Amino acid sequence: MNDMTDAEAALREAPATVSRKAAHEANKLSKRLHRQVGQAIADFNMIEAGDKVMVCLSGGKDSYSLLDILLSLRERAPVPFDIVAVNLDQKQPGFPEHVLPEYLAGRGVPFHIEEQDTYSVVKRLIPEGKTMCSLCSRLRRGILYRVAGELGATKIALGHHRDDMVVTLLMNMFFGSRLKGMPPKLVSDDGRHVVIRPLAYVAETDLERWAAHRRFPIIPCTLCGSQDNLQRVQVKKMIREWERQQPGRIANMLTAMGRIVPSHMMDRKLYPFETLVPTGVADAGGDKAFDEDDDEGCAPVAAPVRWTARQPNDDDD
Ligand code: SF4
Repeated sequence: MNDMTDAEAALREAPATVSRKAAHEANKLSKRLHRQVGQAIADFNMIEAGDKVMVCLSGGKDSYSLLDILLSLRERAPVPFDIVAVNLDQKQPGFPEHVLPEYLAGRGVPFHIEEQDTYSVVKRLIPEGKTMCSLCSRLRRGILYRVAGELGATKIALGHHRDDMVVTLLMNMFFGSRLKGMPPKLVSDDGRHVVIRPLAYVAETDLERWAAHRRFPIIPCTLCGSQDNLQRVQVKKMIREWERQQPGRIANMLTAMGRIVPSHMMDRKLYPFETLVPTGVADAGGDKAFDEDDDEGCAPVAAPVRWTARQPNDDDD
């Protein structure tokens, strides 16, 4: 006679079902991340044959994920390229300096740890209680550019993701009165390097999940004791809340950054408003000047533009 109750049988089965489901989810996440990073690299021609890509590794979830995904994409990339990981040890108190070398050696990644005590410099120059991040980032940037030159790196890869790019856009609008985002690829301000952001299409929540799944040895970013930029924190909370209310909003904002209509903005340097004249030719797709709310709510909406085959926020199996 079988004494096992239905409940006991269900309990016995549960772990296997749960782990199958978790594996399936992790597989989906992996595919999505690799696809989005590959897509961003292709769309912006971020990596070319023979590049030496310097991946800036802070020990946070974003840069670990960036390195991890680039390493596996390199295995099947259409062009050969090298990777070197670089960490700047800023001499923050309690920085666990063994963590990154051990991780990188374990993965067989060439790496360089640059030791520079920017922590003391920033502490000395910034009054107590003020945020140190702006000076800290400036110092870090200069050092990383120098190291890139010394290592012969042709690209500098940073771990900024989709949410960083959208938050930056909104921060610049709210507090800087300009429409300026964070580009996926740019020439550094010293004019000597090309900086790339291969995670440009990746959602931060996916990176959180990936970091947990891959069990990266995360180094907390609070060692310096600096307060986060409060405005940035608030804007980030705001877009997360928007996303919760209406999923897809962050992806739409990112897509909008690549679909700018200068004739419907107000920058006179981008569009010749002063010299506009009637064309005399009706245009069915043209603007209906008297529509107050041009949100395309009444007209049939064209299918959303896809970057190529799929949208970055597409799910897949
Ligand atoms: S959190 Fe600390 S280490 Fe990071 S940028 Fe700000 S001051 Fe620098």
